[in-house]
Amino acid sequence: MEQPPDWTEPGAHPVVPGVHRVPLALPIPSLHAVNVYVIDDPAGPVVVDAGWAMPDSRAALADALGALGHTLADVSQFLVTHAHWDHYSQALTLRESFGTRVRIGRGEETSIKASEGPRRHRRQVDLLRRCGAPDLAAEIEALDRVEEERSIGSRFPDGWLDDGERVGLGRRDLEVFATPGHTRGHVVLRDAAAGLLFAGDHVLPHISPSIGLETEPEPGPLRSYLASLRLVRDMPDTLLLPAHGPVTGSVHTRVDELLRHHEERLTAAADQVRAGRATAFEVASAMPWTRRRRALADLDVFSRMLAVLEIDAHLDVLVDQRVLETDDSNGIRSYAVRA
Ligand SMILES: [Zn+2]
Repeated sequence: MEQPPDWTEPGAHPVVPGVHRVPLALPIPSLHAVNVYVIDDPAGPVVVDAGWAMPDSRAALADALGALGHTLADVSQFLVTHAHWDHYSQALTLRESFGTRVRIGRGEETSIKASEGPRRHRRQVDLLRRCGAPDLAAEIEALDRVEEERSIGSRFPDGWLDDGERVGLGRRDLEVFATPGHTRGHVVLRDAAAGLLFAGDHVLPHISPSIGLETEPEPGPLRSYLASLRLVRDMPDTLLLPAHGPVTGSVHTRVDELLRHHEERLTAAADQVRAGRATAFEVASAMPWTRRRRALADLDVFSRMLAVLEIDAHLDVLVDQRVLETDDSNGIRSYAVRA
């Protein structure tokens, strides 16, 4: 068994005075854990992101709050960076128990609405077919069929977080910035005075965040993501408080690495098209994946979906940049180098 990394150690870990990082377990082994951040406030602790709704995670959050002299019932509000289950679902179950106010980025409304439907990956299945990956599309469709329906009453928040809004707490102000890309409604929260960026999954220290994995993805999610990276790069540098991985000293350093990574992937994808690969599936099959540079076929089904859709998003940006052109005949999108 692989050892869990240090940052997943349970408890309330101080970041700066009044802000604590609390890692909570996840049923997704590759992500290890999700960080929620507990902010001391006279009205009761404010919690940024909430964890995956499951008993272990609830108990771990209760323990961490206990170490800070609070109970789950004391939480005054949840501010959630995006609607992925590992960030959002526990806020919904704790609201059912304690009536806690829950807010999330306004842009998440589209996917939250769409997630009331029976098929969570309906759009991804369509996209995979267009990417020239019908077998993978069929595998994802079969996964959806066996998935149990979640038993959470309403997936809607009590209020939205708007771009440019200032959330005034007792001792600090959090500024909300819409950072679409990872999901269309993702937001980050900035405490300029304390030099903190609660980054959710927009900027992660160890992995390159997935793009547009949601019930109703926007067209061209990578375009939005790159613009959102530049947005936070243009702010004064602060500590990075990510939802997965340790706190690090510089948002800028990591954003520069992520921008470089995508630049390299764009170049590599263009080279594959130049070498004659015509669809997103063919390009993804020819490229190495993960740090271990594994073949696409060796990844699990979910990771294969993410990989093909990520290449689709890269090719889409290359069309924007007028490097490539597309042809959509037969329901499959093929690419060629622009003459
Ligand atoms: Zn996450």
